[in-house]
Amino acid sequence: MTIADINLKINPERFRKDFNVLSQIGADSQNGISRPAFSPAHQEARNWFRARILDAGLQFKTDEAGNQSGFLECGLNNAPTFLLGSHLDSVIHGGKYDGALGVIAGLEILRRVKETGLALPFNLEVIDFTDEEGTLVSFLGSFAFTGKLTRKQLQNPRGGKEALEVGLSKAGLTMENLLKARRDMQTIAGYLELHIEQGPLLEQNNAQIGIVDRISGIAFYRLSYLGKAEHAGTASMQNRRDAALGASAFTLAAREIILEQFPDCYSNVGYVKYQPGLFNVVPEKATLTLEFRSADKKEFRRIHTEMINKSKSIAKKFNLGIEIEFLGEREPVELNATFRKEIHNGAQLLNLKSMPITSRAGHDAQTMASFVPTGLIFIHSVKGISHSPEEFTPWEDCINGANVLLQTVLRLSNKYTDFDEKK
Ligand SMILES: [Zn+2]
Repeated sequence: MTIADINLKINPERFRKDFNVLSQIGADSQNGISRPAFSPAHQEARNWFRARILDAGLQFKTDEAGNQSGFLECGLNNAPTFLLGSHLDSVIHGGKYDGALGVIAGLEILRRVKETGLALPFNLEVIDFTDEEGTLVSFLGSFAFTGKLTRKQLQNPRGGKEALEVGLSKAGLTMENLLKARRDMQTIAGYLELHIEQGPLLEQNNAQIGIVDRISGIAFYRLSYLGKAEHAGTASMQNRRDAALGASAFTLAAREIILEQFPDCYSNVGYVKYQPGLFNVVPEKATLTLEFRSADKKEFRRIHTEMINKSKSIAKKFNLGIEIEFLGEREPVELNATFRKEIHNGAQLLNLKSMPITSRAGHDAQTMASFVPTGLIFIHSVKGISHSPEEFTPWEDCINGANVLLQTVLRLSNKYTDFDEKK
């Protein structure tokens, strides 16, 4: 008999009780949750999580990026560690399930394995990654954990440098020490995350378990077209250098590039500003933001090239200057094939219908997948709604997801040497 043949399931009452207590932390009067990174509510959730880890008789760990873990040693010398996790932070006025569910499910699995006395070939660790939602940096915890975080990223964090410093200090952390959170990836056997889908595919296909095959990459640019400010009534229509024309033409062209050449991809020009921005002055500067997403690495690189070439040819066409600022990206990733197979097998064993899904939203699993074998399990989000108080997943689906997570860990423990293909 192998470990996967053991018909082990989570304790649903304990799981639900924890989830309900956590759902009260940062709850607002309209049924939403506000736990942005290092806010008082987030600190309260972190403290609560720490207490639950200690109550369960697990080791508590924390690092220089504020990632918090519960740890269950397997007893073997130099054994690698298998990670389960997600995040306890939320967007402002978000939902109860995004991130929180994956952390609580991971904790429940460690407790279940511990009380059953199962001998696994790896240590188990449940981790709460800091600032997944990007209040301060975006993926701060998983970037620091994997060593992906750079000093350059900390120069101009998206929530502002001051907010980052203040947030860190509230948790007893410092900017200087953030890079020290890096863990030796050779010691990590794999990473598995349970998360709500935040999209409608499971619902539309009447399936319970989503097996994520790829996670979209995303890139961010700021483009500025530079023209000349002139009197709008006297400068010639033929010769004026109107920066607005550059921004308008690019907005349309970006859409055409995606529709015509990359039909599975997405782009968005979400912000445009004209300067000086007056009725009667030809705009001398037009600044826009561009983001695009693709789940395919080659396509993703080609979109970069196409967008940049097009932005330059438009500048030339309208006799404008152009400034191109690359603000960062997350590469598309493919998730580990052995993990996907065992998620499927685990779901089948539990009589649940599963289907492959490409994730369009980012997750800590995206960071981890570049470093260690990684899997991501989705469960139903009613109407696909997320980042909203209306985010809802029936409790039965939460239990099913946690049981598939447990089954997948057990199945992978039988063959963990096989899945270390670093993909
Ligand atoms: Zn999330």
